Order: sequence, then structure tokens, then C-alpha cells
Amino acid sequence: MKSVTILGATGSVGTSTLDLIERSPDAFRVEALTAHRDVAGLAAAARRTRAAHAVIGEEALGLDLAEALAGTGTTTAAGPAAVTEAAARGADWTMAAIVGCAGLPPVMAALAAGGTVALANKEALVSAGALAMECARRHGATLLPVDSEHNAIFQCFDSAAPESVRRIILTASGGPFRTMSREEMAAVTPAQAVKHPNWSMGAKISIDSATMMNKGLELIEAHHLFPVGLDRIEILVHPQSVIHSMVEYVDGSILAQLGTPDMRTPIAHALAWPARMAAPVERLDFAKFGRFDFEAPDTERFPALALARAAIVAGGGRPAVLNAANEVAVAAFLGQAIDFLDIAAIVAETLSRYDPPPPDSLDAVIAVDSEARRVAGGIMEERAA
Ligand code: NAD
Ligand code: MG
Repeated sequence: MKSVTILGATGSVGTSTLDLIERSPDAFRVEALTAHRDVAGLAAAARRTRAAHAVIGEEALGLDLAEALAGTGTTTAAGPAAVTEAAARGADWTMAAIVGCAGLPPVMAALAAGGTVALANKEALVSAGALAMECARRHGATLLPVDSEHNAIFQCFDSAAPESVRRIILTASGGPFRTMSREEMAAVTPAQAVKHPNWSMGAKISIDSATMMNKGLELIEAHHLFPVGLDRIEILVHPQSVIHSMVEYVDGSILAQLGTPDMRTPIAHALAWPARMAAPVERLDFAKFGRFDFEAPDTERFPALALARAAIVAGGGRPAVLNAANEVAVAAFLGQAIDFLDIAAIVAETLSRYDPPPPDSLDAVIAVDSEARRVAGGIMEERAA
């Protein structure tokens, strides 16, 4: 039996992970589940899976959780430190599916515990990629990418001979506004922006897909996960989201991983790796698709892509600043405090005002993250005045 912890168990990736685990009750034992505010969802999942431990991130909800799980045998705790402690308990396999830089301390704790960490929480790698990779190495942890593109690359990438790779082709759906002009994008609402054409996901990543910041974050994520220069990671728009990414070798061969857009495939890959397990996903019907389309990304209409590439090329603390400013701007857009096009503009302005040196510890990353949030918040206030 594999022991499993799910950080962010009530979210889109978290519930997909639970779905797979609950279909194989004899194969997995749940060590810990965590969530931010959804006490009912967390308690229900803990009861169904007989989790050993459950943690709610919002401190004030601790009593509610304890009450909801009274008499079940599941121990409970609350607060951000308790979420990190849940990760530090260690498990054979940990799903890191918290959204945002808030997930970084638990990711580092899970890596330090030395097990296998399946990483969906891309913001953690964007803000602290070098530190996280080093932490995994030092503690003998295995980091498996769950983001569908990175999972695809992982499946195609010959890690024994990285010098034989010519380039990585990171595919992008282009999001719901792929064909829109800037003028049209200026007026879009949060409800339109969260409606992804192919994937059903949490609100934050859905907005990131609409601005294409998601692909920028994924470029940075790929840079940390795979030993290939940034100039060899290309972004290709593929609206059907069936080819999840590709790896080209020096002999001209291109390997791709395909599948219907369902996160249960990359999650199952990471859950069973290095073996395979069945996943209840729709089979790919090629004849139904008939054709696959491709186009070059447009960084004029989607400036977030260029911002992310420039941030990782320049290095230093810039990726962490980019990520923090984007989190603040996306939350403001979801709260209808700013317009869609303001998101990338606020990220750009934050990057131009705050250029810290590379953070060399977890505390330093958190300090850069908070300062970048403060700068981005100030920019939004100025613009609103
Ligand atoms: P979501 O919003 O649906 O779920 C987020 C989870 O994190 C929830 O369980 C929530 O309770 C928890 N959480 C949020 N803020 C928290 C905090 N401050 N402290 C502790 N817990 C907190 O998000 P999602 O779509 O499942 O995405 C999760 C991560 O996976 C993101 O980093 C996203 O980029 C990545 N990802 C998601 C998908 C997808 O299909 N949804 C695909 C690839 C990558
Ligand atoms: Mg992705």
C-alpha cells in the first residue's frame, strides 16, 4: 500500500487525484489531506478515505473541522504552519496541488521529507525553482511533473541523454481569447475568462490561460525541470489541447504525448510511475478530431508570454516578482477591481519597479513575494486614484 498526502485536496487537481485514489482503495492509504477554507469538502474527503490527518489552512476554521471529523479517528489541525507540518509528516507520494506561492512552504517540506512529490503547483517552481530542485536533490526526493505539458515532456524526454534533445515544444491551447483583438479583450468579464475551451480548472489557472501567463509560468517551470537551454524551449499554440507537448531530438525525431484533456491522465502517470495504472478517461477518437491545428503564439496580443520569458532570462528575483504580481492582479481581476488587460500591465510595472537579487533561501523567496505583492498593490491603488 502506498501512503498518499494531498495538499489542496478540495481543488480541481485535488479532487481528480482523490477520484483516482478512491477507485483503488486497496492500493492507497491516505496520510493527510489539506484545504484552504472548504471545511465541508475536506471533511467529506477525509471521511471517505479514512485519512489519518486533515488540515484546514484558515486558522479560524479549525474548530469547525474538528467538529466535522469528531469520532472518525482523523486528527485535525488548522493554519498555514499546520499545512506545512502535514506535508512534513511525509508520505510515499504527495500531490502538491495548492494554488499559488502559498503552496511553496508545504512543497519544500514534502521534498525535505524525501518521498515522491507530484507537482501541480507550478507557482512554487516559478518562485523558487532552483531552491526546490536543490532541496529535492539533497533529500533524495523524486519530483514528478503533473502539469499536463511537463508530464508529457517527462514521458518523452530521454533524461539519460539530454544532449540529444534539440528542443522542447511546449503546446498551448491559446485560451478562450485566442482569436480576440486587444480591443475585444479590454471588455471581457471574469465569467468569460474562466471558461476554458478544453480544460475544467480552478479560477486562477483559468485566468492565467486566458492571459497566456500560464504558458509563461510553464516555460519557467520547464526550464527548472528539464536540462535544456531556454532558447530551446518553444511555445506552440495547438487549440485542441490533445498533443500535450513534444520533444525533438538531434536526429529530427519528434516524440509527443497525446490524450484527451483530462488531468486524471497525468495524475495517474505520476501516481503509478514508473508503472502505469488505468484511468477512467475518455479514449481519444482521432477521426472525431479530424485534424490538429497549430499556430505561433502572438506576444503582442498576449504580452504576459514575453514578460515571463524576459523574467527567466534576466533571472535574479524576477520570476518570483512576476509570479507574485500576477497572483495579486489575477485576484483583483476576479474581484472585478481591474480590467483584463490590466493584469499584464500591472505585472510589467511591478517588474520595472522592483528588481531584487536572487533569493537564496525559502525565507528570502517569501520576503520577495510579499514585497512584490505590496508593490503591485500600490500600483493598483495609483491606477484607481
Ligand atoms: P483550485 O483553486 O481548484 O484548488 C486549489 C486548492 O488549493 C484548493 O484545495 C484550496 O483549498 C487550496 N488552497 C488555495 N489557497 C490556499 C492557501 N493559501 N493555503 C492552503 N491551501 C490553499 O486550483 P487547481 O486548478 O486545482 O490548481 C492547483 C495547482 O495546480 C495550481 O498551481 C495550478 O496552476 C496547477 N495546475 C492545475 C491544473 C488544472 O487542471 N486544474 C492543471 C495544471 C496545473
Ligand atoms: Mg499546463
